[in-house]
Amino acid sequence: MPRLKHMQVGAIDPHRFGSVLSDRDYRELLELIDRAVDVLRSRVIWNVNSTYRGGGVAELLRSLLGYARGGGVDARWVVIRGEPAFFTTTKRLHNYLHGFDDGGELRETDRLTYEQTLAANAADLVPLLRPNDVVILHDPQTAGLTDAVKRTGATVIWRCHVGLDRPNERSRTAWAFLRTYLGDADAYVFSRATFAWEGLDRDRIAVITPSIDAFSPKNQEQAPCQSRAILTRAGILAADRPGQATFTRADGTPGRVDRGAEVVQASRLRGDTPLVVQVSRWDRLKDPIGVMEAFAHHIAGSTPADLVLAGPAADAVVDDPEGASVFAETVRAWEQLTNGVRPRVHLAALPMIDAEENAAIVNALQRHADVVVQKSLAEGFGLTVAEAMWKQRPVVASRIGGIQDQIVDGESGVLIDDPRDLARVGAAVVELLSDPDHARQIGAAARRRVADRFLAPRHLARYFQLIERLASR
Ligand code: UDP
Repeated sequence: MPRLKHMQVGAIDPHRFGSVLSDRDYRELLELIDRAVDVLRSRVIWNVNSTYRGGGVAELLRSLLGYARGGGVDARWVVIRGEPAFFTTTKRLHNYLHGFDDGGELRETDRLTYEQTLAANAADLVPLLRPNDVVILHDPQTAGLTDAVKRTGATVIWRCHVGLDRPNERSRTAWAFLRTYLGDADAYVFSRATFAWEGLDRDRIAVITPSIDAFSPKNQEQAPCQSRAILTRAGILAADRPGQATFTRADGTPGRVDRGAEVVQASRLRGDTPLVVQVSRWDRLKDPIGVMEAFAHHIAGSTPADLVLAGPAADAVVDDPEGASVFAETVRAWEQLTNGVRPRVHLAALPMIDAEENAAIVNALQRHADVVVQKSLAEGFGLTVAEAMWKQRPVVASRIGGIQDQIVDGESGVLIDDPRDLARVGAAVVELLSDPDHARQIGAAARRRVADRFLAPRHLARYFQLIERLASR
């Protein structure tokens, strides 16, 4: 069985950014495209990661590579495969890199599984590469490919999407595990300067901030009646008025939400009920149960709002073996809610068969929300924050990782110093629900901030500058 999955990436015309960028930024984008086509003419830019759906990296690759291809760059995406034991090891590395002790250990046998899996994937990848190519390896799952790729003569960039501001024993353990594989990489990319590891060559470190795709089914405009129709179709909202559950696919063709979510709820959400939403993978570091507790003890009593916790269908994300058990834990915690609160909390496992349909449902949820929460205990960047900000939602989020780069506290969202402080989370949400004018102001500032800093053109420009620098050596 071939180890690598080759992802089809449709070209997306980057000229559509003319409608959302300032004149200056748009001119810079056009210049970038000209230069990139010239410099990258004979190169393939390979991106290698470990899942094609669910989670931030898959989300990023789909849009960035689409725009790169639309601009004339031969950017490609392959996904490695592995047995469950490999993904258990890499999920542990992921948790450790966030400084989080998941109760397990990293053993010699884990290293063996890791190396064997990547050796098998390397055997498929290496014959495809040419010395002129640039290979971007994403996250801990692919770090062990560095040596094999480097031997082909290709340029290797390793990009780490996770990190923490203050290292601890766990993160250092993960660094020690992974650093042995990374010595030959030409560059290491982190989402924040504070995430860069000790012991890496400082000259090879680059910081590149992630971005969202303003036009993808996840973030494209939806009329309120469209969002409601999508949520009704997905089984989350009680039907009020009929509307079209439609969206536009990345290739411009029309799409429609047909599949329902698996929703754990006592009754459907009513269209006129104020709504608090968190969208995340089912991951303890996203703390879905903490959000539910903050809602039950500090929000439900003083507002008429409901809460939706949404994430991918629990077993759909290949490189996240904990999804199903965290979803089950969240359902158990939901069952323990009091009779007064339980009907106001809805847990939605969203269908993942069609990634764009899934994205349209996430889009509708974020737009329908009065307040979006991202109460993560650790976060690399937190794309869900930028996604909600782009939709002019007021976001209440933890002051951790890349979330701090996105939200200016009190201006374009609200930052919570200690995400375990449920009373503080609750108070921030209640304040925004009770003051719609303030919430609107924050939402408008949030949109401007994303337009200025977190859209794909800026991200592509950073990548290109790095590749250009490495190519000119
Ligand atoms: N996401 C999704 N469907 C879901 C749940 C999440 O498409 O059911 C997306 C979400 O919209 C965001 C990404 O997965 O684009 C999560 O990225 P983030 O950086 O927030 O967290 P990560 O999962 O990478 O830790």
